[in-house]
Amino acid sequence: MPIPRLANLIDGRQQASLGDRWLDVHEPATGTVFTHCPDSVASDVVAAIEAASRAAAGWASTPLEQRAQCLYRLADLIEASLEAFAALESRDSGKPLSLARRLDIPRAVSNLRYFAAAITGWGSESHAMETGIPGAGAINYTLRQPLGVVGCISPWNLPLYLFTWKIAPALASGNAVVAKPSEVTPCTAALLGELSIEAGFPPGVLNIVHGRGLEVGQAIVEHPAVKAVSFTGSTATGARIASLAAAQFKKLSLEMGGKNPAIVFADADLSDANLDTIVRSGFANQGEICLCGSRLLVQKSIYDSFRQRYLAKVQELRVGDPNDSSSDLGAMVSKVHYDKVLGCIEQARNEGGRILCGGAAITLPGRCAGGWFIAPTVIEGLPSAALTNQQEIFGPVVCLIPFEDEAEALTIANDSRYGLAASLWTQDLSRAHRMAAQLEFGIVWINCWLLRDLRTPFGGVKQSGVGREGGSEALHFFTEPKNICIAYGASSTHP
Ligand code: NAP
Repeated sequence: MPIPRLANLIDGRQQASLGDRWLDVHEPATGTVFTHCPDSVASDVVAAIEAASRAAAGWASTPLEQRAQCLYRLADLIEASLEAFAALESRDSGKPLSLARRLDIPRAVSNLRYFAAAITGWGSESHAMETGIPGAGAINYTLRQPLGVVGCISPWNLPLYLFTWKIAPALASGNAVVAKPSEVTPCTAALLGELSIEAGFPPGVLNIVHGRGLEVGQAIVEHPAVKAVSFTGSTATGARIASLAAAQFKKLSLEMGGKNPAIVFADADLSDANLDTIVRSGFANQGEICLCGSRLLVQKSIYDSFRQRYLAKVQELRVGDPNDSSSDLGAMVSKVHYDKVLGCIEQARNEGGRILCGGAAITLPGRCAGGWFIAPTVIEGLPSAALTNQQEIFGPVVCLIPFEDEAEALTIANDSRYGLAASLWTQDLSRAHRMAAQLEFGIVWINCWLLRDLRTPFGGVKQSGVGREGGSEALHFFTEPKNICIAYGASSTHP
């Protein structure tokens, strides 16, 4: 069933692009177009930034509790429509409906609630200075003021989850926002925009402009009124944004690509539940999670037995209609991405990799016959230096790599231009601590994966990221510290 065309949210009103141009929005599970989103032009971005500029001062001086209430109301409205949001997210991105229901939408609700609570509980810093002279000194206190207008640009893999991960701290800390979701998966952000009016955000505080990165995203980054840009997406786009923003000295938070290792030692507790988590860490959301472990390092002494059990579990994964509750994997997000992932599998073959399972597209019967499905694929026999083990594939493809000992595991794991997340499976906590300290990644999970506490710093090193999101890191990013020094005592006693 077609759904109405999506609208931009500018100055508190839903509207079409001034250019009256539209982009097709596809349902990956069927390969068909099911709606259209505005293919916005630079003048839409200017209108949004002007609306945000008008709203910024009023929002910044709105009492914290009132700002938080808007976020809480938005969270409540999304939660009340959880089924509709989950169905839309699944239809738009190809992910299993059960995953959108269990992970994406509840997490979006949590993001909004978390930052609503965080901002009201946030304290300011103060530093008392002693001069050594009785009765003379100073008190410093640090204001954390909102930046004004900020840009938030998000990708297609966890659409509402990552969109709210940015707009929630930006809004909570008192900024007016111009946000751009991915043109590939714009639906739930558009629905959120509609509900934000009902939640009571004043016009112009939250603006959502749909369209292409090169046109809309870039116009947000380049506009001088936008003081900071929070971006999640590929390293190539992040590099482009960094170079565009540098000349204006904008604050930047960049969350980019990854090529994450999962490292399994012989002493790991490989219970069925843990093995399920290791499998999930490679294939959840069709492998389209920046935190998925696509390099699976296994200690040689257990390699053969581990491979046998692992492959058996991967082959049990069901690729199917995202609406079917028994589907573990849905469709790849777009035809372009589907072709890219199949090309990477071909490249692995050409590099001499052995395909242990999967390795091809899947054609489903019935309504999903035209969908973009790929079988979970496990490859072995490729050295760490192979392109397959160096390039981000971002699909249901995992490479097995044997290692001898701790030193070799560390060398292979760190042999990457990326440094987002690593997971480590061992019962030796001394080893876990030693390894974690030396792994060149922003996030290390020990005997778990994707266990997230919203208070913790989130982000990567090397070409995976600049800056951190999450908790007070995000509130710091979206505010500017200003130190105010009040002296007391006779001024002659101060240096
Ligand atoms: P992408 O192509 O870089 O796009 C990300 C966002 O940037 C989209 O909204 C895109 O718009 C926009 N954009 C593109 N070119 C732009 C430009 N010149 N200026 C400003 N904005 C621009 O990434 P993607 O393919 O959507 O997402 C997949 C990537 O995201 C993977 O590399 C994955 O690892 C990464 N990711 C990282 C994290 C993390 O936390 N580190 C989390 C999730 C995903 P259009 O879609 O309209 O082109």
